[in-house]
This record gives sequence, structure tokens and C-alpha cells, in this order.
Amino acid sequence: MPPSSDTRPPSARDVACTAAYVAVEEAAKQTYLRALKVLPPDLKEALVRARANETDPGARSFLDIMLENVAVAERDDNLVCQDTGTVVFWLEVGEDCPLNLARVSAAVKKGVERATLEHPLRPNAVHPVTRKNTGTNTGRYLPAMHYESVAGHASLPVDALKLHCLPKGSGSENMSFLRMFVPADGVRAVKRFVLECIVEAGPKPCPPTVVGVGLGGTADLCAALAKKAVLRPLGTRSDDPAVAALEDELLAAANELGIGPMGLGGRTTALAVNIEWAHTHITQNPVSVNLQCWAARRASAVVTPAGEVTYGF
Ligand code: SF4
Repeated sequence: MPPSSDTRPPSARDVACTAAYVAVEEAAKQTYLRALKVLPPDLKEALVRARANETDPGARSFLDIMLENVAVAERDDNLVCQDTGTVVFWLEVGEDCPLNLARVSAAVKKGVERATLEHPLRPNAVHPVTRKNTGTNTGRYLPAMHYESVAGHASLPVDALKLHCLPKGSGSENMSFLRMFVPADGVRAVKRFVLECIVEAGPKPCPPTVVGVGLGGTADLCAALAKKAVLRPLGTRSDDPAVAALEDELLAAANELGIGPMGLGGRTTALAVNIEWAHTHITQNPVSVNLQCWAARRASAVVTPAGEVTYGF
């Protein structure tokens, strides 16, 4: 949940960072559009690898269509899929970042509105009771924003902000699950639950999927971690050896299920199983699964306090 909007007059610090707030708005707009049009290289490589390893002729032809879809979207500067999604941002905030996060949230929201109206994009955000559409892909608590304070790393200077944009299509977001296990259930129950979620989802999330798993924490933290797991580039593994081994085991098991591309059979049901974990209570073991479709769209931007922007995935 983003910080509440800040209606105070701008402080001297805010004035000094004016260029950065303008840059955040533009970065939010561009990452949303870029995510919808250009898939990350690691995802394209995973689809090519899956095509090479697939033995089922029908599954191979679906993977061919997906790869062609990606190429056409890039060539024609068009959307990979018509569902422009519910917009989610994961924001990494360097520990020396001077930006006011309420103003960052307002800028991100404005960027999404501009992308939707100026492109234009299909508006998906509706009131949950009246179903009235806001027309902007924004609204109360939308776009969803998760903030994480970090020490800085190779792609994030310690005083900068990194926006990860994740447009989440309905077919895959509807396939989100949470189960509160207890320790007596053991890791076996965790494995079984993840695989049952993939089976229950079947063709609905447009497989082959990226399986995001949150493990531990509380119910809300666990669900957020499953969403963060979807953002991890394919081919990366958890830095915790026990969790990495679980990722490998679950990916192999998922691809034995025979669901295949678009749920019509084949070896390629999942492209990755990514697990993000947190310590949890002695009497709990929450597990959340967030499935992401084959068009696993994501884009990122690093914004410095001076307003410089570097785009990536
Ligand atoms: S789940 Fe993904 S590929 Fe399927 S319709 Fe939605 S956005 Fe498109």
C-alpha cells in the first residue's frame, strides 16, 4: 500500500527533487507501455528453450505462435496482449533516497493515467460493487504499489529509486491462492499445495506460467512475496540453498503435469518457479501462489534524485 497522499506545500527538499518527481511520472508511464509491448530477454530465451525441448507437436505450435506474437508486437510497436492488466508497481527505495514517497506515489499514479489516456490503453479499473470504470487504470489504491527499502545494489545507486512495473492480466491474477499451513503439515504440504494450484488453474492463466510463490511471513506479506517472486528474472534462483532446491523440485514436478502451453497438453507447463520467503511464526507456515502468464510482462526504471532515468527489465 502506498504512503497516503501528501497535501502539504512542497518542502525545500521537494523543490530540490522536482525534476525527479517529473521523471518518476514519465518513468511510470514508459515502464507501463514498455512492459505491455516488449517482453524481457530472459523470458524470450525461456520460450525459445521451451520450444526446443518440447516434444508435443501441438505444444510446439503454440510456442511458435507465442514467439511470433512477441516479434510482431516489437516490430509493430503494439501490445503483446489486449489485457492491459491491473497495474502493479514494486518500488525499491535506496536507503539514502531523498524523495518524498507520497509524492512518488502521486507521480506513479499520474504516469499510469497518462499512459492509459494518451496511448490509449484499455481501461480495466472498476469499483468492486458498482463496476463503474474509472477510465484510467487507476483508482482507490490503484495502481497497487509495494515499497521496499534497500541498501542499494548493482543496478540501484543508494540514493535512487527503482520502479518495477508489472501489468497483471486478469487470467493470471485470478489464479492467486493463499493457504495457512501449520508446521505439522511439513514441506510436503507446501509442495502439494503449489502443484494443486497449478492443476486447478489449468489453462486459465495462459500457460506456460511463471509460478510466483510466497513462503512464510504473515498472510498479507506472503501474498506480496508471491507477487515479488513473479518479478524475478527467469534463470535466477533463490539465494537460500534450501529454497533454491525447492524451486528446482517444483519446476520439474510442474512440468510433469502435462498441462502444457495454453493447457492443451505438452511438457511445458511452467517456465519457472520462483520463491520469495520470509521468516514466520513458530505455529504458522503460510504459502501463497501467484501465477503469471506466458506473456510475463515487466519493465523497470531507475530514477536518480537529479531526475536521470535508466530503463531496463
Ligand atoms: S493471462 Fe496474460 S496472456 Fe492471457 S489474456 Fe491475460 S494478459 Fe493475456
